[in-house]
Amino acid sequence: MRKRFERSRSESPDGRGFLADGRDCQELERPVGSREVGRQQPPEASRRRCGEEGIIGRKRFAVSLSLAILWPLSGWAELTVASLSTITTDIAQNVGGDKVKVLPIIKPGVDPHEFQPTPQDIKQISNADLVLITGKQIEGYLTKLEESTGGAGKFVNTGAAFPSLKLEEEGKSVEDPHWWHSIENMKKAATLVKKRFAEADPANKAIYEGNAAAYLEKLAELESWAKREVAKLPREKRKLVTSHDAFQYLARDFGFKIYAIDGISTDDEPSSRKIADLIDTIKREGVKAVFFESIENPKVAEEITRRTGAKVGGELYADGLGDKTASTYPDMVRHNVTTIVEGLK
Ligand SMILES: [Zn+2]
Repeated sequence: MRKRFERSRSESPDGRGFLADGRDCQELERPVGSREVGRQQPPEASRRRCGEEGIIGRKRFAVSLSLAILWPLSGWAELTVASLSTITTDIAQNVGGDKVKVLPIIKPGVDPHEFQPTPQDIKQISNADLVLITGKQIEGYLTKLEESTGGAGKFVNTGAAFPSLKLEEEGKSVEDPHWWHSIENMKKAATLVKKRFAEADPANKAIYEGNAAAYLEKLAELESWAKREVAKLPREKRKLVTSHDAFQYLARDFGFKIYAIDGISTDDEPSSRKIADLIDTIKREGVKAVFFESIENPKVAEEITRRTGAKVGGELYADGLGDKTASTYPDMVRHNVTTIVEGLK
């Protein structure tokens, strides 16, 4: 976290004066790390060139000092938070407001099952005050990342705020990481994020609490809307064929039965036996539609629609937010629920 009052020091150790953000001229001449690059710098600092202008005069210093004192009141981010999921990015932006600078390491459209942090990502994460993850084993690189970026202490595992659904895969019980398809889980994750932001930046606790309350209200409205929409679909029609097994939390909350083509991860490949069984099930159960996913290759799903006569139900966002109709969490839920209800009606 930025030390807010560092800027009000009255003397410069090198005698050459301070910049408006409290750094002295020597500090400005040092190579700047990624932490500073990501900060919003006061305009004074970016304009001033110490080497040419030399010592800041008494008058200018007084102006700089008053700017420095006023700056924290103008919405300058207090925390830098790296986010390893588009879902936690949405939470951080809503709960943090203008007090948090969010670094979205995983961007919309990126597959979190396949993601590996680059050296540039590791640098950004090292410089962040907190790191948000969704947990439940989806970040296979987590232990290594914690070791190389300063330890597990600043990692916030939002998926630890509620119990996991367990699924059977190849005879083993595995945690289902796709918890964001339960709006109840989102509320608990947002509450955990609020707590950790307030602990890291107690001066802005009331702001995080206010922002979180507004976000929770938005989620509650979203949940009521989703319940009303799904209620339009008779129980016997709530059968969802999707590319990979990502919608079990939605199935639990809204009474769907899931038939997934792939397993719990996008890199699982279905066997021809599994595809044949699925085709039988779709015909027998009279499943009306097969849904594609925004980041999955639709080849097998297309083949299944051809061989069963089921229609293409549309595209769902399984592993996170997208660029257009699903660029926020509420938009993603609205897109998915509307697509499912329209496709299966
Ligand atoms: Zn997934």
